[in-house]
Amino acid sequence: MPCLALALSKFSPTPSSNTLPIAPMLTSNRTTSPKSALTRNADASADFAHKLARTRALLQQAAAEFSPATQASSLGAEDVVITHLVNALQLDIPVFVLETGALHSETLALLERTQSHSRAPVRVFRPEHAAVIAFVRNEGQDAIFKSMAQRKACCDIRKMEPLSRALLGQRAWITGLRREQSNARAEVPVLDTSNAALAKFNPLADWTWGDVWHYIAENKVDYNPLHDQFFPSVGCAPCTRAVSLGEDFRAGRWWWEQETAKECGLHVKA
Ligand code: SF4
Repeated sequence: MPCLALALSKFSPTPSSNTLPIAPMLTSNRTTSPKSALTRNADASADFAHKLARTRALLQQAAAEFSPATQASSLGAEDVVITHLVNALQLDIPVFVLETGALHSETLALLERTQSHSRAPVRVFRPEHAAVIAFVRNEGQDAIFKSMAQRKACCDIRKMEPLSRALLGQRAWITGLRREQSNARAEVPVLDTSNAALAKFNPLADWTWGDVWHYIAENKVDYNPLHDQFFPSVGCAPCTRAVSLGEDFRAGRWWWEQETAKECGLHVKA
């Protein structure tokens, strides 16, 4: 496990056209190894500066025109980029995390660090304790592996119900969805206003995985060490595994199910 100790006092941002001049928070002085996610992935697109400018503009639009707006964070690579931008731009956009009770210890540790260093408030939503207890008692510890219906029932209890509380009263939410992540996400728009009551911003929709890691490297963003262990996607521990070379981004999520059904409901349109 790489050393993740933050040393904010030692942080000195490197001048760069892609580097934001402020936001010493949410940064790390982690050293890179040949196998780290940073070394493997940081490779910006030719038009990265243009993409970054548009992402900043979208976040500013969310704060100015869609308040109250909030960012949904799974504490994966895309989400730490967005939270870093929200902080750097000093936007009035709180962040929320669904703490399902089944997250990896690495994710919980990053949540704690983010809460300590983020200028934007970081709110945590947990499932109803009684509902979790009843589900496990009635269906068993391994119910999620028995059928998709039971897996989705677990997602409903641990994610969807807390999500509905997190989004209550919001006019917009901001996600880290990218088109490259899966076929199901290939058409993701940067701004979805199909739900008149709740707009959805996907400001990294056209970013590549290399763009995400380029931003993390340039800005020394603190990231989830699961990515160093070949987890491209961060989720609940029982339902997320590392992937092999050649597998797609979502291959490590609910890998025992059909490819087309791999969503928990958070980003599925009604
Ligand atoms: S991802 Fe897995 S553990 Fe997490 S809520 Fe869904 S089924 Fe339950």
